[in-house]
Amino acid sequence: MARRIPPPTSTWVRGSANAGASYAQAASTNTAGAIRSFAFRERAAILDTNVARVLFRVFVASGDPKSHAMKRHLWSVAESLVPHRQVFDFNQALMDLGATVCVSRKPKCLVCPVAKGCRAFPFTPDA
Ligand code: SF4
Repeated sequence: MARRIPPPTSTWVRGSANAGASYAQAASTNTAGAIRSFAFRERAAILDTNVARVLFRVFVASGDPKSHAMKRHLWSVAESLVPHRQVFDFNQALMDLGATVCVSRKPKCLVCPVAKGCRAFPFTPDA
């Protein structure tokens, strides 16, 4: 019989992000969120590179997106957005948006489904 590793609590996820976690810890935190969301279908935020880029552009749009303070802020944004239902679909949609529309270079703002609410619209990385 396979042993099930208990998922981390949301306190652990939030606590490690707020404590100025290292990149390794941040990656672990994101992985934990992804496992909780995708494998266990639990209500958990994710913040991989693509999701962080989307949330930064939509909700912040200024400052250093790579700073520790911004990462902590984006974690809190991500956690506040997680719906109570269909978490899997929500997180997958965020990841897909970052991977296909709100890409790092040349984002496709004119066809973006969240353009109306995006603080960075129209985003021009080289401007
Ligand atoms: S409008 Fe542009 S910058 Fe904003 S989320 Fe969509 S693709 Fe990204």
